[in-house]
Amino acid sequence: MYNVCVIGGGPVGLTIARNLNEKGWKCIVIEEHAKIGEPEKCSGLISLTGAAELGLNLNEFKLNEIYGADIYSPSGNKLSIEKQFPVANVIDRAQFDKSIAKQAYDSGVDFKTNTRLLSLNGKSVFLQNQGRGELIKADIIVGADGALSKTRDIMFPEFKEKKFVHGIQAEGKGNFNEKKVEVFFGNYAKNFFAWNIPLNKETSRIGLATSLGEKVKENFEEFVMKKNFNKESFENELSALIPCGAPIENCVKDNVLLAGDAAFQTKSTTGGGVILGIESAKACSDSIDAFLKYKKPLKEYNKRLEPVKKELRMHYKMRKYFNSLKEKEIDDLFIKLKKAGIEEFLSKEGDMDKPSKFIPKLAGKPKLWLMFGTAIKFIMS
Ligand SMILES: Cc1cc2nc3c(=O)[nH]c(=O)nc-3n(C[C@H](O)[C@H](O)[C@H](O)COP(=O)(O)OP(=O)(O)OC[C@H]3O[C@@H](n4cnc5c(N)ncnc54)[C@H](O)[C@@H]3O)c2cc1C
Repeated sequence: MYNVCVIGGGPVGLTIARNLNEKGWKCIVIEEHAKIGEPEKCSGLISLTGAAELGLNLNEFKLNEIYGADIYSPSGNKLSIEKQFPVANVIDRAQFDKSIAKQAYDSGVDFKTNTRLLSLNGKSVFLQNQGRGELIKADIIVGADGALSKTRDIMFPEFKEKKFVHGIQAEGKGNFNEKKVEVFFGNYAKNFFAWNIPLNKETSRIGLATSLGEKVKENFEEFVMKKNFNKESFENELSALIPCGAPIENCVKDNVLLAGDAAFQTKSTTGGGVILGIESAKACSDSIDAFLKYKKPLKEYNKRLEPVKKELRMHYKMRKYFNSLKEKEIDDLFIKLKKAGIEEFLSKEGDMDKPSKFIPKLAGKPKLWLMFGTAIKFIMS
């Protein structure tokens, strides 16, 4: 009998299991793949402010340092944001996940890999290990099983707002500015964007995500052709869904909690889910610890999540605003924002994870406020 069974060995589930075992609770992680961190399904772009707030040292996994972004409207108007110092790292996500797994293992967490969740009933967790059925028991169950969470489907069937984008990415060769990521808007990436995230001067992660129902593969090819990327050099291709909706408000039912992508704790503006996911993991493990130690209700997790959910809701409102614009409107918006000084403003004040840190500061920039007023009202409402 375990205190806690965590479904999903991604960064969020691993962090929860490690934190709880370190507090003395016996945990097990169930992972459907054979190896933690593999296959890698991420661009690995992590903000340094977010990492610092969580006490994460990325040096061990760092592949590149990013100083800013060039963002292109559909017809090629450019907004350029750059700082004097690195704002993000591109990391080796597989190694990052493996290192949290090692910490979890060293703290005494049990692991079952090649094993997937089939069903839940009270404290019983029904699993399948390469065709064989297995049953384990745990007081608390955490669904950290990613975008297509089975835990969510079993325990939260009332949650129907499953908004995803489909992302594909490859590593390609070329001649890149290794200090900046590039972001491209256009109908080929409807309701999201395409990206170019350099690992160094010669290699980059080139990708695109768009709404389900769009022809993502064909659109990616169109984008690659239009931007002259070297398709012949592509390797390490990946394809995966990214949650792109509002965060789930109630993440607790009976003895089951949801965290990470499973709970839509992913920024719907950019698709980034590592930093806010790990912040949610802390809220989750603290709530479980308080329940096991002091019988505090598990529902307190929803309250502890509030600061993260506030940011995620803002991301979602921005996403809805951008999705409401046509190509021409995005082009016009870029021109207006450039004139109003958005590049200087974001270069100074921008934050990749927490819009609440810079959106209120727009109020002190009347030019931007006027230009972007509709959007801000939309976001702050
Ligand atoms: C193309 C792409 C690019 C991205 N780029 C970035 C980026 O640059 N920066 C960033 O911060 N985020 C990025 N993300 C998002 C980021 O990868 C996720 O937000 C993050 O991995 C969420 O962590 P998690 O632990 O919640 O879920 P996951 O990392 O998805 O882990 C869930 C785990 O659960 C396992 N699992 C699923 N179902 C079961 C089951 N039934 N039984 C057992 N195990 C199961 C899975 O195998 C997986 O290992 C990107 C995502 C995609 C798709």
